[in-house]
Amino acid sequence: MECLKEVIVSPVSATYWGIPGYVIFWVLFAVAFGLFAQRFYLLYRLMRLGKQENRFDRISERIKAMLVEVVPQWCTLKTVTRKDLAGLAHALLFWSFSLFFISYIIFIGLAGGFGLSPLIERTPFETVYFSILDIAALLVTLILIVAAIRRYVIRPPRLEPTAEAGIILVMVFSLMALHVIGVGFDHASRGVHTSWPPLGAALAGFLNQTGLSQTTLEATSRGVWWLHYLVILSFMVYIPHSKHLHILASLVNAFFKPLGQKVVLEPIPLEALEAPEGEATFGASKILDFTWKDLLDLYACAECGRCHIHCPAQLTGKTLSPREVIHHLKEHLLETGPKLLAPQAEPSSESQVDMPAKTMIGDVVTEEEIWACTTCGACQEVCPVNIEHIRKIIDLRRNLVLSQSKMPESAQVMLRNMQQRGHPWAGVQSMRLRGDWTSGLELKILAEGDNAHTLFWVGCTGALVERNVNATLSMTRVLKAAGVEFGVLGESETCCGDPARRAGYEFQFQMMAEQNIEIFKGFNIKEILTACPHCYNTIKHEYPKYGGDFKVVHYTELIADLIRQGKLKLPNELNSRLTYHDPCYLGRYNSVYHEPRRILQAIPNAKLEEMERSRDTGFCCGGGGGLMWIEEQPGTTKISQMRIEDVLKTGVETVVTACPYCLQMFEDAIEHKGVKESLKARDLVEIVDEAMKSS
Ligand code: SF4
Ligand code: SF4
Repeated sequence: MECLKEVIVSPVSATYWGIPGYVIFWVLFAVAFGLFAQRFYLLYRLMRLGKQENRFDRISERIKAMLVEVVPQWCTLKTVTRKDLAGLAHALLFWSFSLFFISYIIFIGLAGGFGLSPLIERTPFETVYFSILDIAALLVTLILIVAAIRRYVIRPPRLEPTAEAGIILVMVFSLMALHVIGVGFDHASRGVHTSWPPLGAALAGFLNQTGLSQTTLEATSRGVWWLHYLVILSFMVYIPHSKHLHILASLVNAFFKPLGQKVVLEPIPLEALEAPEGEATFGASKILDFTWKDLLDLYACAECGRCHIHCPAQLTGKTLSPREVIHHLKEHLLETGPKLLAPQAEPSSESQVDMPAKTMIGDVVTEEEIWACTTCGACQEVCPVNIEHIRKIIDLRRNLVLSQSKMPESAQVMLRNMQQRGHPWAGVQSMRLRGDWTSGLELKILAEGDNAHTLFWVGCTGALVERNVNATLSMTRVLKAAGVEFGVLGESETCCGDPARRAGYEFQFQMMAEQNIEIFKGFNIKEILTACPHCYNTIKHEYPKYGGDFKVVHYTELIADLIRQGKLKLPNELNSRLTYHDPCYLGRYNSVYHEPRRILQAIPNAKLEEMERSRDTGFCCGGGGGLMWIEEQPGTTKISQMRIEDVLKTGVETVVTACPYCLQMFEDAIEHKGVKESLKARDLVEIVDEAMKSS
């Protein structure tokens, strides 16, 4: 490599039309930064219009979680599959672009803007750094070409071929090209003959052979430098106006994401019920009824469409698309928000300003969309930027149910049952103790004055629906065989409140939660064992906000542990090929993936075949979010039937699950598909019961 000794004049050291380059540099920067900051401040103020929510707890944990997710790009790498490598491409883009971003600070900001060129430029550091950038530029260009072909030629359903995406692709490509061209002209104009950085040096070699004059080479070199700088500044201005706002917002969103619990629902204080009529709004009917974190989510959306292609409602032909919900809410915020910030407007009183023509529920998000969500969590699981879709949908439901008394008829029946009977099903409470329940099992039904360390919380479906009662009986036999001591509540057990909460009937949920907690405390209960993942999730994560802090265990966790400790023997061969369906509230909500599989592996000759969509990419049964009791949109495929198609592809004889809702939905779908003879749906505990019995 030839060593360079000449004194270099940076492009900003020159004078243009009598104006020093430095002045032009800083004026352009000030204008661009001013535009960026102005837009950014507007977005910040709009976000601040949202309701209060505390996400400033556990700061060090949040910083760590953010860094662990963003720096290694786990947020996008987690979405990589054999069929979809876009997450890997995004990670490479992120790392490459980070290198370029650092180079802009060093070689343009410090070198050009602060006159440090002689210290930084033409040094071995620059040569090494620019050589790395050459490789990055090549990589980024290849990724951009593939991205453009995918978006505009192949057009997969998750990507929209928008003009905005095209502008960004062109801008990023320009930055890469200008970097290489800039180095090429710089070397050629100074007569440098080197091999590094490879692309720039090759271009310089070519330019040297073209016979271009020194003046032309120098002028072009400066021109390219300024053009490069202008594109960088334009990019900075454009970002907060485009979907690429997510580059900044997703970082912040990673900091404020929920820690531990995946779906955080904010309670509505019961006192709100006492507000004079018309003064209290429940849930979200206007954009400002969401919290600031919900509004931040809207900025963070990259419109990648992953949620769209994983949503069971969307895949079965419903109108709901989580991507569109987020996108439309963002557009609505940007349209209505500035009017609310106008000086004459009271932020808390939307009625005092010109109301936008659109209503949020109806025009922006339709009621059909709102009621199509099963709250399965697939959208949140795949979202690379931590958007919380579900609580927004539940807030919209809360408004429909609590403020507008609007809900599908089937939901009304379920909610009425919960109010009047204490559970969502037909039948009265006393049916919880019918026949089989008490005979021969010697259950300890807790009565006044009793104490119990462990409560087996049966759940409404397990106690009242005939098919599920079989699984409950299996459960009690297994617990007794393993010597687990437990009590049950019998008639005193009501619903945990999950269906009411997911359907938006928040007050009913809160009343049930408080009543149940009181009962648990009355019997001095320390540990609650559940058969239903919905009860498990609700009691484990949502009761603590109401003073109910208990150890909550799903039966799959307990049985896996009993097998490991040798307290439960499973000697019987099963001789069956089966597949395991991950219930959303057990898998995605609580990451209980291994225990059910460990149990199946412990059963002799149980041959487990995994479905393509399993574990965190498992597909919903269609019964969550209250949809067990709510009719799916007419003219669409039932989600449970689509899931049974997945099961049939494996060619197994049995689909096993660990949730009473899933079991119900599958029984129904198997019947509907007419495959009853060849396919059975069973609860995992029934299989354990069978494997445990002495032959
Ligand atoms: S929770 Fe499930 S059904 Fe609801 S929007 Fe997300 S993916 Fe769709
Ligand atoms: S919400 Fe998340 S997954 Fe859905 S389009 Fe936006 S960034 Fe992608």
